[in-house]
Amino acid sequence: MAKQKGLSVFVSDTGVIAAGYKHLLTTHGIPFEEEGHTEAKIVSAREVVKSPGIPNDVAIIGQLLQHNVPIIDEIEFAARYAKGKIIAITGSNGKSTTVHLTYHLLKRAGFHVALAGNMGHSFAKCMAENIYDYYVLELSSFQLEGIKNFKADIACLLNITPDHLNRYNHAIAAYTKAKLNILRNMCRSDHFIYNNDDAIINQQLNQLAISPARYPISILTGAQPPPVIYSSNGAFHFRFNQRSFSINHHLTHLPGPHNQYNTMAAIAIATLTGVSLDIIAAALPTFHGLPHRMEWCGAPQNIDCYNDSKATNVAAAQVALLSFNRPITWIIGGKDKGNDYTILLPIVKKSVKAIICLGENNTTIIKAFYSLGFPIQETDNMGSAVDIALSMALPGEVILLSPACTSFDLFENFEDRGNQFREKIKLCIAQSKK
Ligand code: ADP
Repeated sequence: MAKQKGLSVFVSDTGVIAAGYKHLLTTHGIPFEEEGHTEAKIVSAREVVKSPGIPNDVAIIGQLLQHNVPIIDEIEFAARYAKGKIIAITGSNGKSTTVHLTYHLLKRAGFHVALAGNMGHSFAKCMAENIYDYYVLELSSFQLEGIKNFKADIACLLNITPDHLNRYNHAIAAYTKAKLNILRNMCRSDHFIYNNDDAIINQQLNQLAISPARYPISILTGAQPPPVIYSSNGAFHFRFNQRSFSINHHLTHLPGPHNQYNTMAAIAIATLTGVSLDIIAAALPTFHGLPHRMEWCGAPQNIDCYNDSKATNVAAAQVALLSFNRPITWIIGGKDKGNDYTILLPIVKKSVKAIICLGENNTTIIKAFYSLGFPIQETDNMGSAVDIALSMALPGEVILLSPACTSFDLFENFEDRGNQFREKIKLCIAQSKK
């Protein structure tokens, strides 16, 4: 996009640039370097657009600061040129699901919509390719922490639970601050949708003077006064902007209480953009969720198997465990980001009948759940994890892959882990039919 806007561009990467990107750079005549930065060249830039994955404490950032070179994030840069409205969605968990459902609802209404950000294409790439009515952006804390003039027209904050704390010196306050940056620059005519049941969000909002109109969401019964968006008696209820309507839970296929927040947020956003209730009601049933997020993979031996490989933190695994009222054989483990499993003890005690640890080092997990007295087994591959789980679970029960950890010890990424789970389940079903 920078090149398209007539700027002189140079790309520098300490890693190896993937072949596809290299081809793109060459095709557009953009000079680049890889496997290292030429410091003199970089510090002479008029402005540097930093990838959100680069931590702020690396040497080159220090050099740029020393030379007073402005450093901005990609979303900041792209937003300068955005013509359509920006819908920004963040949270520790549920971003991708909410972004995709919002995109789905807006598309069904006939809007010209782009989906970009943390997942999928970069915001800048979308801008370079086309002009849209709406940009639905999934934004991570990394992307939000550096924004200066970026402004959302509609913002959504789904939840704040500990994640990526290694980037924030293990301080939840710094992580929270980054998430709340989504409100920066928003004004009275803008809209802010947030989880009213989230303790951290509530505490923060009580201390902040915020300009945009607020749309709190709740699934807890008895909140007084009831939030303008809430779930009760089998329906989602919306009471705002002189409108009042309800949508039956049966219209959505997304499982678990956590998905109620995601669904209500997406419906609220769609309503604020002018999508009619009829279109929302017709579009909801055709959204089946994303792979690796509570994805039903089949029922070998009549045991329902769910792939929740994207659950890379404790909070995501917690909501997965809360989604069933049947005994769960739970496959957990991977690369631990300093997890504290104690918050899971009540739900594990209530719902889990056995644990299969699938990580290189399972010591913390075994220590956390050992006292509950149920079987805990260890393995280092998906095939045997599923075999063990199937030997333990009974018909009518659930096998849940919801690891609470990242996947980089035994798998390429969370998709690889989830795909291996799905394939193994398919194989078991095929074998049982022989
Ligand atoms: P993100 O993009 O924020 O990682 P995803 O939609 O990909 O969110 O979901 C990541 C994980 O979090 C999945 O395991 C999913 O089941 C769980 N999850 C989804 N929505 C929520 C929510 N609102 N609260 C807590 N966990 C959630």
